[in-house]
Amino acid sequence: MQKVTLAQLKQLALQAKNSLWGQAQSLDRDVKLYLHWTAGHYGQFFSDYHINIDHDGSVYVSTNNLADIKSHTWRRNTGAIGIALACAYQANTNNLGPEPPTTQQIEAMAQVVAVLAEVLDLTIDQQRVMTHHEAAVIDGYGLGSGDPETRWDLWFFPGVAKGEGGNVLRGKANWYRNQGVA
Ligand SMILES: [Zn+2]
Repeated sequence: MQKVTLAQLKQLALQAKNSLWGQAQSLDRDVKLYLHWTAGHYGQFFSDYHINIDHDGSVYVSTNNLADIKSHTWRRNTGAIGIALACAYQANTNNLGPEPPTTQQIEAMAQVVAVLAEVLDLTIDQQRVMTHHEAAVIDGYGLGSGDPETRWDLWFFPGVAKGEGGNVLRGKANWYRNQGVA
C-alpha cells in the first residue's frame, strides 16, 4: 500500500482514464466507482480495492494502475474502481461495532470520489457512484435477500439514517467537486 495525496491520486486517474473507459465501453457501460467498507480493522488494508482509506482519512493505493481489474464488487469489476474504508469490524445492521466509519473517513471518501469523478468525466449519481449496499440490492444479494454473501456496505454510518449512506456520500462528493477540491 502506498499513501497518496489527492493530487497524486488525480495523476493516477489521468493515467488510467483511457484504459478504464475502454474496459467499460467494451461492456456498454460507463466507468463506475464502488464504495465499500472492509468489515475489518482500522489500519487493515486489502488489495481487493484500488483505494483504502484509513480511520484518520489518509488515502492508500494498492496499485499504481487504477485500471487493474480487482475483485471488489460482484460482476461489476471491469472498468470500475473499488474504494474502501478500513473499518466496520463486527458491524451489524443495528450496531456498527467498535470500529465504525469515522468522520475523517467519510469526508476523505467524498473527496476521493470528487477527484476521480472530475478526472474520469463522471456525473456523481447513483448510476455511476454506488455503495456496495446499493449494488447488492440490484444484484440480489442485498439486505433481506438471505444470500450468505449479503452485503450492505455504507447502508448507513454514524449520524446518517439507515438507507441514506450512498446519498450522503454522493451529496458530499458533489459539494467537494463544486468547491474545486478536484
Ligand atoms: Zn463491499
